[in-house]
Amino acid sequence: MANVSVPMDTKWMAQGNCNNHPPETFFPSDGVGVEVAKEICADCPVKEQCLEYALDHRVDHGVWGGASERQRRRILKARRATAAAM
Ligand code: SF4
Repeated sequence: MANVSVPMDTKWMAQGNCNNHPPETFFPSDGVGVEVAKEICADCPVKEQCLEYALDHRVDHGVWGGASERQRRRILKARRATAAAM
């Protein structure tokens, strides 16, 4: 069966705290940079939408929704394990 994906609404992107920072801030090259980006995300009004977008689109790079690449991989793995157990 084909995997049919419904496009997500992306209007939330215009409300993100990241609009006030250079894009490269969210694609850091080290752990210090990751923490800087996560701090900006911490009180972002669209944090949840951002994280779900990145998870749904399997975005590999950057900090999205306050989660690093590694954290998002862990979330996806945990969700797969939960789904498999049901
Ligand atoms: S959670 Fe972070 S990356 Fe996502 S929109 Fe907000 S500030 Fe930008």
